[in-house]
Amino acid sequence: VILKLNAKANETDISRLVGRLTAMGLQVAVNRGEPGTSLAVVNGLDATVRPDLFIHLPMVEEVTPFNRKFKLASREFKSQRTVVRVKETAIGEGSFTVIAGPCAIESEAQIQAIAEAVAKAGARVLRGGAFKPRTSPYDFQGLGEKGLKFMRQAADANGLLCVSEAMSPEHVPLVAEHVDIVQIGARNMQNFELLKKAGLCRRPVLLKRGLSATYMEFILAAEYLLSFGNPDVILCERGIRTFETYTRNTLDLNAVPVLKNLTHLPIAVDPSHGTGLRDLIRPLARAAFAVGADALMVEVHTDPDAAVSDSQQTIGTEAFREVMKDLTRLGPALGRPLDAKAAPLSKSGADHLGGRVPT
Ligand code: PEP
Ligand code: MN
Repeated sequence: VILKLNAKANETDISRLVGRLTAMGLQVAVNRGEPGTSLAVVNGLDATVRPDLFIHLPMVEEVTPFNRKFKLASREFKSQRTVVRVKETAIGEGSFTVIAGPCAIESEAQIQAIAEAVAKAGARVLRGGAFKPRTSPYDFQGLGEKGLKFMRQAADANGLLCVSEAMSPEHVPLVAEHVDIVQIGARNMQNFELLKKAGLCRRPVLLKRGLSATYMEFILAAEYLLSFGNPDVILCERGIRTFETYTRNTLDLNAVPVLKNLTHLPIAVDPSHGTGLRDLIRPLARAAFAVGADALMVEVHTDPDAAVSDSQQTIGTEAFREVMKDLTRLGPALGRPLDAKAAPLSKSGADHLGGRVPT
C-alpha cells in the first residue's frame, strides 16, 4: 500500500512511523516528494495487508492499495521524476546526456584517445567494457580490473564520468570502486543475485533491457535494484530480438514513452546494440532524443574497423561529431538542451557543438 502523510509530518513523525511499520515486519520506502511525503509499504504483503490497518496510524492521511506488480518504480509511489546526479551531470532532468566510448576497453592508449575525442565532441560519460559478455568463449573477454583503471584515468583526464559493466555479483564492488555508473548488461537483466548486489552498491546503475524482456519484466528488474536500496536507476532500451535479421536487434522506441508513463526512472537509448549497424546510429540517435529519452549510449572508436568487438556497429570519431551536431541542432526544436544544464560552455559562447571545456 501507499500511505500519503499529512503535510505537517516532520522528520521525527516520519521516522517514528517507519519504525512502527518496520516493527510490524513490513518493508518501508520513503518518498519525500512535492507536495508531501508518501511511504510505500512493500514486501509482497499487499495481498494480505488490509488497508484499514494503516488509516489510524499517526500522520497517515490516505491509504491506497498498490494495483501494480512493481511498486517503488511506479509513478503512483513517486510522482516526481528521478534525476540521477553524478558530479555536475544530471540524467533525467530534462536535458539529453550522451554516453560514448568503445564496446571494450582494449588498451590504455585506445581508451585515452577515445575519451579525448568524445569529450571534445561533447559527450559527458565514457563507456567501455572491462568484463565483456561475449556470445563465444573464444572472443575477447575484456581487460578486467586493469581495464577499469585505464578507463578511470582516461575519464578523469578528460572531465568525463564513466560507466562499465559488472557481469557477476562478485564484480560489483570492484566495478563500483572504479566507475561512476555500474552497468548491468542485457544478458544479465534477470540475474537476480547480480541485481541484489547492485542494489546494495553506492553507485547509480544503468540497467539494460534483456534481449526478449517485456516492459513488465524490465521494470521488475529495476524494482529489484530499488528495493535493495539503490534509488539511482537508469533504464536502457538496447533493442530486442524480433523476426528481423537484417539488423542485429530491433530498437524498440515504443519503450521510451511507455516506460516514462509507467515509471519515474530516466531512460537511455542505445542504438549501437539496438541496430548493430553503423549507418543507423545517426538517424536513431536523433529519434531517441526526439522520442523523449534522457540519455544516449553509443559505441565510438578512433579506428572502428579495428575495434576488437562490435566493430560493425561502432562509429568513428568524425561520425560521432556529426551525431553531436545533429543533436545540438535538434535541441531547440525539442525545447530540451543537449547535455546536462550544468555543462560549462566555452568562453566564447559560440562553440555549442564542442560545448564542454576540457578541464
Ligand atoms: C554493452 O553495452 O557493452 C553491452 C554488452 O550491451 P548489451 O548488454 O545491451 O548487449
Ligand atoms: Mn558492444
